[in-house]
Amino acid sequence: MKRRLGFSTRAVHGDPEVLPDWSPVVTPLYQSSTFTNPIGSTQEVLYTRYGNNPNQVLIAKRLALLEGAEAALFVASGMGATALAHLAMLRPGDHLISSEWVYGTTHKLFEGEFGRLGIDVSFVDPLEPRLWKRALRKTTRAIFVETPTNPLLRVIDLEPIAALCKTEGLALLVDSTFATPINFRPLEHGADLVIHSATKYLNGHADVIAGAVVGSEAVIEEVRKLMRVWGQAIDPMAAWLVERGMKTLVVRVERQNQTALAVAEWCSRQAQVAKVHYPGLPSHQDHEVAKRILNGFGGMVGVELKGGARAAERFLRALTIAAHAPSLGGVETLVSEPRLTSHAALTPEERARAGIPDGFLRFSIGLEDADDIIADFAQALAQL
Ligand SMILES: *Cc1c(COP(=O)(O)O)cnc(C)c1O
Repeated sequence: MKRRLGFSTRAVHGDPEVLPDWSPVVTPLYQSSTFTNPIGSTQEVLYTRYGNNPNQVLIAKRLALLEGAEAALFVASGMGATALAHLAMLRPGDHLISSEWVYGTTHKLFEGEFGRLGIDVSFVDPLEPRLWKRALRKTTRAIFVETPTNPLLRVIDLEPIAALCKTEGLALLVDSTFATPINFRPLEHGADLVIHSATKYLNGHADVIAGAVVGSEAVIEEVRKLMRVWGQAIDPMAAWLVERGMKTLVVRVERQNQTALAVAEWCSRQAQVAKVHYPGLPSHQDHEVAKRILNGFGGMVGVELKGGARAAERFLRALTIAAHAPSLGGVETLVSEPRLTSHAALTPEERARAGIPDGFLRFSIGLEDADDIIADFAQALAQL
């Protein structure tokens, strides 16, 4: 029997093969839209829009191994992955129940675009399993959840939701971008389909836009068909970079877990900080759930400054290492303000009610030395 390989080995090698002499150790970049095919062959042709370019095929296999899935598929962006995953499961007239705490553009996709396609979406508080049940209709086909959530890092226990999906015959789709397969694998908790913005941790270097869908061979085949006709294939160069990024996924995420915990603990001792949101802190509402279901608490930290928007601006202006930028999951520490990014559509009162008062900062902790990130935050706080 073959030994079961660890996540780091999987991330670097996939299913390791002994290389013939004079092989490149790194996968070559197949920057080619098309490939020669045998004359008279009835086999599927190789064409990069079909997603069967070797760079595209390789990263899909690699991610499937990490998520413990039959199959995976990379596409052009995280939004491409979210759209195609749902379109593979839903038809006009169908109803989707979504967590109300989802990525802003996902919300727009569901409300605007899906409405036009005749797919109705209800939004519910994901921490109230009763509400999921109450939102059920005869036409409900699927449930969508994002966990951990942005920017409060709420950790949603999938098991009660998966149980409901099972009894009602619904598909459970989970956006696991913040967790990565290193910290959480939704398929092990009853999900049917996992969605990633590979732009974030999977690639991890803030130089690629990409997305992925992970699940059973049958469902991924449906997503693949849609990818081909909607023109959502990932570019070979992006796929090559994602392969390179994924090789270091385990060490990056483990280090980001460690540094984020150190930063969160430090922040929670600062006088200028009203509240810290990090699932690794005992003060977080979901700390017990997080300890039970996550393998690591992640690299994202939410911090409420006491001085509101003015304090947030002063803090951002004073930073010398961390950059003020949206997005997350890269090697550089980034800080963003949800009031101007993900939650810009809400009024200040609505944001405060949602637990994101002005003065809220979201940190995506990078790979710098923890001491240096903390020193940068310390000198910025000192200027408030
Ligand atoms: C960034 C993000 C997306 C969208 O991904 P893109 O690659 O920008 O299209 C979706 N979900 C979550 C949780 C994200 O953080």
